[in-house]
Amino acid sequence: AQDGPATDGDWLPLREELRGVEPYGAPQLDVPVRLNTNENPYGPSAAVAADVAEAVRAAATDLNRYPDREHVALREALAAYLDADTTAEVGAAQVWAANGSNEVMLQLLMAFGGPGRTALGFTPTYSMYPEYARGTSTAWVTGHRTEDFTLDLDHVRALVAEHRPSVVLMPSPNNPTGTALAPETVDVVCEAAAQAGGLVVIDEAYGEFRRDGTPSALDRLPAHRNLVVTRTMSKAFALAGGRVGYLAADPAVCDALRLVRLPYHLSSVTQATALVALRHAEELLGRVAELRGERDDLVAWLRAEGLDVADSDANFVLFGTFADRHRVWEGLLGHGVLVRETGPSGWLRVSIGTPAENAAFRDALTLTRKEL
Ligand code: PMP
Repeated sequence: AQDGPATDGDWLPLREELRGVEPYGAPQLDVPVRLNTNENPYGPSAAVAADVAEAVRAAATDLNRYPDREHVALREALAAYLDADTTAEVGAAQVWAANGSNEVMLQLLMAFGGPGRTALGFTPTYSMYPEYARGTSTAWVTGHRTEDFTLDLDHVRALVAEHRPSVVLMPSPNNPTGTALAPETVDVVCEAAAQAGGLVVIDEAYGEFRRDGTPSALDRLPAHRNLVVTRTMSKAFALAGGRVGYLAADPAVCDALRLVRLPYHLSSVTQATALVALRHAEELLGRVAELRGERDDLVAWLRAEGLDVADSDANFVLFGTFADRHRVWEGLLGHGVLVRETGPSGWLRVSIGTPAENAAFRDALTLTRKEL
């Protein structure tokens, strides 16, 4: 289902690999309880919203000018934020931002992928990765995760040796399973990729939701020159509408991205908004602890209901397995709860919402299972 009327595009000189392809995106349905895109259910407070509005008002008087192409103030603020979340030292020269971590990763493949090159991932994983690869004419090769959605290190080493990828791309925590990578796994992948001259991109879009005792891959930056860690303000920071993602890596990686970014890619409105959000980090991130607690409670409840649930370090939970997951998805929707039909067959993914939304999900699932 597209957002506009069907058009006849047969006459267009569309790239071969785009023929018959559907645009990516979860259905944006008007449903009381939307737990399908891993958003933060809490919007900014009135005070933060007023501060954003004031910063945008101030930026508006300069809108005749292009923004700071180097987004220096933003990179400094992001570096200070990351520095507090890791044992590594992170400075502004190691940080690069763009319109969502989607754009950061696309830029990474623009710079380090391309025709004749390979990017490697491990399924089930985030469904945008093959799209970045397609958009940059990079071959996309996948290995597989084990039964519990972790990585078998021999399998990783074998695939890296066979395909010699210029980029290994994986989320930690993984979407859609919620599985975080162990630090030893990050080390093995970085060492294997370095042998093949490749970079390792660890996508920590959900990094702030990790459980106690799960370290961030940021800690391994000093150990591996070829390690890139991406983050986003869309999830824990509750700023999905602001479109700000970023990375930390060797400064040479940022220099390479300067070759492929469009000039002035981050608007002055975006930069002003993100800076205000970072100033209010404490408040915006204040709900992360509650969301993590709700996540752990939901995992326990689903298990008590006799379902399989993947361990989760994220703000969503993969659960199943259902002989016909589409009927369960439809049943939940019938009770006003939208979840995501994604992941390996038989599984569904639910984002963590407010306590009331999570309760509505539990009630809807109980009713749906009775009705089936
Ligand atoms: N990585 C993963 C694993 C995600 O799930 C998402 C969002 N669904 C993103 C990256 C992209 O987020 P954004 O572009 O909003 O930063």
